[in-house]
Amino acid sequence: MDNNATTKVADEVLEEMLPSLKDFYGNPSSMHTFGGKVGKKIRQAREQIAELLSCDPAEIIFTSGGTESDNTAIKGILAANPGKRKIITTRVEHPAVLATCRELEGRGYSLVELGVNADGQIDLAELKEELDDNTAIVTIMYANNETGVIFPIDKISELVKNNGAVLHTDAVQAVGKIPLDLKNNSIDLLSLSGHKLHAPKGVGILYVRKGTRISPFMVGGHQEAGRRAGTENTPGIVALGKACQLASDNIIEENSRVKALRDKLEKAILKNCPSATLNGDKKNRLPNTTNISFEYIEGEAILLLLDQFGICASSGSACTSGSLEPSHVLRAMGVPFTAAHGSIRFSLSRYNTEDEVDFVIEKMPGIVNRLRQLSPFVTE
Ligand code: PLP
Repeated sequence: MDNNATTKVADEVLEEMLPSLKDFYGNPSSMHTFGGKVGKKIRQAREQIAELLSCDPAEIIFTSGGTESDNTAIKGILAANPGKRKIITTRVEHPAVLATCRELEGRGYSLVELGVNADGQIDLAELKEELDDNTAIVTIMYANNETGVIFPIDKISELVKNNGAVLHTDAVQAVGKIPLDLKNNSIDLLSLSGHKLHAPKGVGILYVRKGTRISPFMVGGHQEAGRRAGTENTPGIVALGKACQLASDNIIEENSRVKALRDKLEKAILKNCPSATLNGDKKNRLPNTTNISFEYIEGEAILLLLDQFGICASSGSACTSGSLEPSHVLRAMGVPFTAAHGSIRFSLSRYNTEDEVDFVIEKMPGIVNRLRQLSPFVTE
């Protein structure tokens, strides 16, 4: 139940990538036939990914994952457009974006972090007001990793296009969960990470729309047409291609099944656990994610008790767990401190079963009641 943190590598994906480790291990840049065969596999993966995103294969740059793609997009655009010094983002981005933007602010760039309302949505009028001639890049996530809230990226892309700035979206949590169509919007750059959609860790892509001026983040060899140096992670790339093909083939039916399971889980928890509230826009949400606050108890304590039953969930993003600070996303949404501290994210995948969901439904009320009895904040 923690698939927004990472996912199981699909059997079909593993099967596809193994020959790249055992037999076809050549360097795709080599002149010989052995290396050339690997180059062909990379071309195939590029086409499979382009099909899922509805873009041109030449618009895909392979990277080591979401974090590198986010860094490349933001720093690469600023380096290629030295005349513009302003970055616009939101307060609820993943640290891969937020920390990058704040680092750049420390180096003299001007940074605007848009706030969100109680549903976790930005105000488009505020974005419009902030866009000006100095804006180099707007970076707004497609869907939030903690709440699953989906941003109105088509409307955002229209506003940014009219202004002449570049739009980057971190779509790490959206790809494979909802259909994306880059032919029918004006997103300039998009980040994707393999391990969130049943490919292995350490591979991702940055989509760069044709004509977008961007400087490389990694320099060295000529790989990826000079846009990202370093010998290609061939097994990872082949695996990502297969994972995208599986997503293209099954996205609608799989995600409606996952959504039905998520809805069952969410409804039962909200009904059976007292003082439980849902966080985030109920309508515009990923089909696999639910984020629920249990007032007056610690999210970490819930996680530990769930763990004793072998249930994995999260109290926010995995990258911030281990700290007792409540989630920056929930705080930006104005969720009260007592509720933000007791928030749990359940995130499902196509491998979750109804039996698993029923098991969590059975265990949650007991866990919540037990912790409430221990809570110093609950008097009755
Ligand atoms: N962006 C979002 C929205 C994420 O959820 C994550 C991972 O949790 C990342 C970026 C980072 O991706 P990666 O782990 O591939 O570096």
